[in-house]
Amino acid sequence: MTRRVFSEGCLLIATHNPGKAREIADLLAPFGTRVVSAGEMNLPEPEETGTSFVENAVLKAAAAATTTGLPALADDSGLAVDALGGQPGIYSARWAGPTRDFVSAMKQVERALADKADRRARFVCALALAWPDGHVETFEGVVHGSMVWPPRGNRGFGYDPVFLPNGHSETFGEMEPEAKHAISHRADAFRQLVAACFKK
Ligand code: IMP
Repeated sequence: MTRRVFSEGCLLIATHNPGKAREIADLLAPFGTRVVSAGEMNLPEPEETGTSFVENAVLKAAAAATTTGLPALADDSGLAVDALGGQPGIYSARWAGPTRDFVSAMKQVERALADKADRRARFVCALALAWPDGHVETFEGVVHGSMVWPPRGNRGFGYDPVFLPNGHSETFGEMEPEAKHAISHRADAFRQLVAACFKK
């Protein structure tokens, strides 16, 4: 499959989540890519009407590229818990409500898992890189782990404090950001994106 290479100087990150924008800027720093976020540009947030992480990422990237005329990268990600049939999944942000209350979202997952022995879960990250002419490249990354309570650590964001990646003793909330970046779902997706679309 021939992938389109990113050759423009400036990339629009189609997110209003400062945590994600920061992580994405860090991951692309080695390529000297200048990034600007949809939040900084006050772009409207399109409704996430897709039925999968990839569909939602494409929807967000394509909307931002069309509106601005810049190539745009969108991430759609979330936590999929095996014993909950993959929930909260694409609704991970919505479980935190309009005030983005992740203490409450983590409690909801804990309650839903109360009578379940299986604590396996994964973080999934879909990336879509869309150009204003309609071309789109997509990638999906994953990190497997298990859910732990009580929440541990105050680094990262979202569900990080209750996610213990396989083979590690610290939750994503306890890890140094560099350690999380090395193994995260977003890092996995980015490795694929960079290998296909970014040249040093
Ligand atoms: P969306 O991709 O903006 O729809 O929202 C994804 C949601 O999934 C975030 O708001 C977080 O709740 C959760 N999420 C995605 N990636 C991570 C992560 O690396 N750590 C913790 N939570 C995450």
